[in-house]
Amino acid sequence: MNTSIVDVHTQLFRVPLREAMSDARHGAHTHFELVTVTIRLADGSEGTGYTYTGGKGGRAIRAIIEHELAPFLIGKDATGIDAIYDGMWWHIHYVGRGGITAFAMSAVDIALWDLKGRREAKPLWRLAGGANRTARAYRGGIDLNFSLEQLLGSIESYLAAGFNAVKIKVGQPTLDEDVARVEVVRRLIGPDTTFMVDANYAFDVPQAIAAAQAFAPYDLLWFEEPIEPDDYLGHAKIADATGMPLAMGENLHTVHEFGYALAQSKLSFIQPDASNCGGITGWLRAAALFGPTGVPVCSHGMQELHVSLVAGFPSDGWVEAHSFDIDQYTTRPLALKEGRAVAPEEPGVGVAFDWPQLMPFAVRPRESASASG
Ligand SMILES: [Mg+2]
Repeated sequence: MNTSIVDVHTQLFRVPLREAMSDARHGAHTHFELVTVTIRLADGSEGTGYTYTGGKGGRAIRAIIEHELAPFLIGKDATGIDAIYDGMWWHIHYVGRGGITAFAMSAVDIALWDLKGRREAKPLWRLAGGANRTARAYRGGIDLNFSLEQLLGSIESYLAAGFNAVKIKVGQPTLDEDVARVEVVRRLIGPDTTFMVDANYAFDVPQAIAAAQAFAPYDLLWFEEPIEPDDYLGHAKIADATGMPLAMGENLHTVHEFGYALAQSKLSFIQPDASNCGGITGWLRAAALFGPTGVPVCSHGMQELHVSLVAGFPSDGWVEAHSFDIDQYTTRPLALKEGRAVAPEEPGVGVAFDWPQLMPFAVRPRESASASG
């Protein structure tokens, strides 16, 4: 079996959302971008990986893959995932160490894991540790712009869909407005539904401390990204001052950043995102740092893939079911059983795209870098 890489095919899609959604820092989301990478080996086998954005940066990610990573990958042995991963890291290190390059590496890495799973006839949840096939799950709303009525309607739809844990955005113009929204949602869902809030770094440290204290009566599982993700020490100040459990990780793009967060931030939950922290290799390296400390390893977005990582990795984390409706464009929507997310059993990463559905949103004609040039 010849497992050398002979073709790297990259595609970019710009997919409209059903409705505009907003959070505290990114403005209105109207589209998400999906960058897919299909890697073909000399033996004819293929694996597909991907990353996504909130609507910006997709072209740059594709360019890094096509111009820098694809030529580097051609001829490499696809079975040496760690070696390829570290090779990509150093290949683009000077312009890299996170950001756009981390998204590009993620898409490639996921394609390599898809190939590995197919080759070994194993589903991803087994490759990720095999601890469990199901994981705790919650529905994360992007709802800062929703009226109170829309907000409550969205929460009701999440509960009706089978979720027993929900998250809303905070970061309204005044703390009173945030507290009012937290209060009505808690009243709607009752005491037995798990509830989190996410500020997308709307606050500075004093504001976040005030918010955490104001939210305290509402029994939140966590307060996510209260302040800028790069302010590692600021998170610890908020945790020390309030005792509020804090979560972050969706904006940490390298294993080093996860190391700083572990050493400095006093987080109660960590949320690596395989689409932007270096794929499955990056997610598992972050998980390996936090898992032994007892901090549950959770996820952000990309639920169709993260369900397998969070379930398989031995730490009882939470899978976020994100608001971007990527489920419409894959052949297997996220499955829930008694409120828990169920990982697919298909060999590989378990995510198959519905290409005809995506094609109307392709940004430009297909291109590929291949051995023949
Ligand atoms: Mg978030």
